[in-house]
Amino acid sequence: MAKIKTSFFCQNCGAQSPKWLGKCPSCGQWNTYVEEIIQKEESGKGTWKPSGSGTKKTNTPKKIKEVNYEEQARWVTGDPELDRVLGGGIVPGSLVLIGGEPGIGKSTLMLQIALTLSGKTILYVSGEESEAQIKMRADRMAVSNPDCYVLSETNTQQIFQQVELLKPDFLVIDSIQTLNSQYVESAAGSVSQVRECTAELMKFAKETGTPVFLIGHVTKEGSIAGPKVLEHMVDTVLQFEGDRHLTYRILRTSKNRFGSTHELGIYEMRVDGLRSVANPSEILLTQREEVLNGVAIGAMLEGNRPLLIEIQSLVSPATYGTPQRTSTGHDAKRLNMLLAVLEKRGGMRLGNQDVFLNVAGGMRVDDPGLDLAVCASLISSYEDTPVSEQICFAGEVGLGGEVRAVSRIENRISEAEKLGFKKIVVSKYAVKGLDLSKFKIKVIQVSKLEEMYQLIF
Ligand SMILES: [Zn+2]
Repeated sequence: MAKIKTSFFCQNCGAQSPKWLGKCPSCGQWNTYVEEIIQKEESGKGTWKPSGSGTKKTNTPKKIKEVNYEEQARWVTGDPELDRVLGGGIVPGSLVLIGGEPGIGKSTLMLQIALTLSGKTILYVSGEESEAQIKMRADRMAVSNPDCYVLSETNTQQIFQQVELLKPDFLVIDSIQTLNSQYVESAAGSVSQVRECTAELMKFAKETGTPVFLIGHVTKEGSIAGPKVLEHMVDTVLQFEGDRHLTYRILRTSKNRFGSTHELGIYEMRVDGLRSVANPSEILLTQREEVLNGVAIGAMLEGNRPLLIEIQSLVSPATYGTPQRTSTGHDAKRLNMLLAVLEKRGGMRLGNQDVFLNVAGGMRVDDPGLDLAVCASLISSYEDTPVSEQICFAGEVGLGGEVRAVSRIENRISEAEKLGFKKIVVSKYAVKGLDLSKFKIKVIQVSKLEEMYQLIF
């Protein structure tokens, strides 16, 4: 009889400690350590074991130029948004985590992908819903797949038994927090349980070449062992996000061993499932009748994809106490920096003003190329003068008030042209050596914020 072994785990980030700690040294959260039983039989036992494979291959060093590899044959899923964020399709044997807040539509997305992959045998394992509930959801969708199997199960050993019988080409786990392995004593959803189940699934994916998609919940309180622990273990992490009250959702890559990160997929949530949005700029720009103060359009880049996005701001005298600085969808520190630049270089008196900044459409942006649009929007609200709706911006603003070049300016300019803008303001350093005559849109070059101000207002 083995001695019961326990350890303490931070329920927020998964850090491990032999004794209880009040404050987590790795993520800084208070009171997150919980004791978990990690009595586990020696590794190798009980995890995924493919039948008949007993021999172990020994690896020897090879010369790097003698290493052969073939470009992994990927499966194109038929969902252009998913293929893009994965870097061109599903890689066989990959372990992919889809994270997001509860209720955002992760199960709907995964079920839809399972149903879209026709010609493949799919096993959709759910620890959250019964088979009937999954069927009801599938019936509402516009796609169907005769080879999609559902299983309502939470024990990993039971799942592997069924997997060995069915031999699916693709496995979906909804969700990793509901799984439990009999080799760990803790409750489902605890850090050690999540870690063990993921390790078993990882082993299964690598040894059989079956892609496995895991759904992981993130809670604001961090009370469930969130994907933070998982992120280190899996090959690819996709974030599914958006405002639950809005109809569109964003799928973005935050880690990818098989492709670039910062790719973006946009879906529209419909009654019959999720629909890919081919031209996102059209939904991100508000259709409006009149020109408003405090609104400016920025040309940004998300991965390889140019997007036009609306920045709104409200600058108004603070009525009580310390002026507020609030930004939604945009980095607050970056906003404060831009406000300081406007104050120092532009002579705007913002010390006694409340400033609210909002990125329309519930998007979260971090492209410095939006600085110019943010400044234009702030100036517009401060001066009570609208920015013409035919103009958009692409440029980074430096501490000296200089307008700096941003990457892939050509893509941004063409996207603005495609959407019918008449003028785009860019840094003059960005378009050096660029043939501007091929654009119909007027490209206005500036080198300082001041010049932008004089041109626009
Ligand atoms: Zn922690």
